[in-house]
Amino acid sequence: MVHILGGGVAGFMLAEALDKRGTAWHLYEKAAKAGTEASGKNAGIVRTHEVDPVLRHFTKQSLAYYRDNEPSFEQNGMLLKSWEIDYDTEEREERPFLHGRYSGKFYPDNGLVEPLRLMARLAGQPYRHGAMRYRFSAILQKGGNRLVAIDDAHAADRITIGEGDLVVVACGEGSIALSNTLARPLMLTRHERTLFEYENTVNYSGPVQWNEEASCYFRRLGKTLLSTAGEQIPVSEVRAEQGLEFHRERIATIEREFPFLSRDRLVAHRTCLRVMPLDNRPYCGYDSEIKNLVWFTGLGGRGISIAPALSAALADYLTGKSDGSALEPLSPERAD
Ligand SMILES: Cc1cc2nc3c(=O)[nH]c(=O)nc-3n(C[C@H](O)[C@H](O)[C@H](O)COP(=O)(O)OP(=O)(O)OC[C@H]3O[C@@H](n4cnc5c(N)ncnc54)[C@H](O)[C@@H]3O)c2cc1C
Repeated sequence: MVHILGGGVAGFMLAEALDKRGTAWHLYEKAAKAGTEASGKNAGIVRTHEVDPVLRHFTKQSLAYYRDNEPSFEQNGMLLKSWEIDYDTEEREERPFLHGRYSGKFYPDNGLVEPLRLMARLAGQPYRHGAMRYRFSAILQKGGNRLVAIDDAHAADRITIGEGDLVVVACGEGSIALSNTLARPLMLTRHERTLFEYENTVNYSGPVQWNEEASCYFRRLGKTLLSTAGEQIPVSEVRAEQGLEFHRERIATIEREFPFLSRDRLVAHRTCLRVMPLDNRPYCGYDSEIKNLVWFTGLGGRGISIAPALSAALADYLTGKSDGSALEPLSPERAD
């Protein structure tokens, strides 16, 4: 039995991958439904332009997953300004964008999912080998060098971990608290990202654009235009208040960069945290001390883009179908 903690894209993609392999699993989520944290609040951009070859490998495999499995996936391409060579060194066709103001490298196979539809599918589809449990806020109990039980923080409810069982922590930001209580610090940083939702007044149909000056992604979702922006700084250094006033400068930059947007078209905004290790690679593998503990966290700003392939590789490893060598660069041991 694999006990999966966390019902975001990481936890559910792993559940799906284990189910396909015929392995028993159980997923515990502290909220009342799936995807209430970053996995339901992101921009849903599926992109592969990674300069790190390990990450590029997994994002390309994940793109294939979305093409084959996710009804909300739309392949409408992605444009990066051509001087952003820190993202990728691949040769790509140059195209003009933003009404000809810029030209950029075009990634025709990249695309978009609708995060809430993705999470609804993952949580709602029929499974043969596992089940979910909501409103279960997991705390881990250790005995020697293994985990012995999972308790619910808010009710007298204990799951005993059987011999041969595994526990996978896929709790996003919540992984930090669990790693601290187990005295296995993972050195995850937290970044704040905000999604601005504008009414689409220009019939913009894509592709996705990454804009360096505004430090934001730009995509269409139905009749609205989404723009993701945020600081690449740890959240502890970000001011606490989350009102629109706090984002005044960023909104001004977006509106300067995209003149067809204006404040009166800004219909919503939402802020969420994303967590990542200092070297920007997710943690995906066994803990080096606690034998039945597996970390699957720190997916950073690419969780949607990378979770399917990481989950498949992790499921193969956990079920003995692979030796896990593909995941070695993502081993949590590097936090020791
Ligand atoms: C604004 C924004 C825009 C983004 N845009 C993109 C994008 O366009 N493309 C892309 O690829 N990525 C994007 N990302 C990143 C992506 O959203 C994340 O990497 C991904 O959602 C992380 O998924 P996760 O499952 O690891 O974490 P989460 O989504 O945080 O899920 C963790 C789950 O664990 C649960 N949990 C926590 N603690 C416990 C506990 N103790 N017991 C039980 N359950 C617990 C939480 O309730 C939560 O549901 C964006 C992120 C943000 C914030």
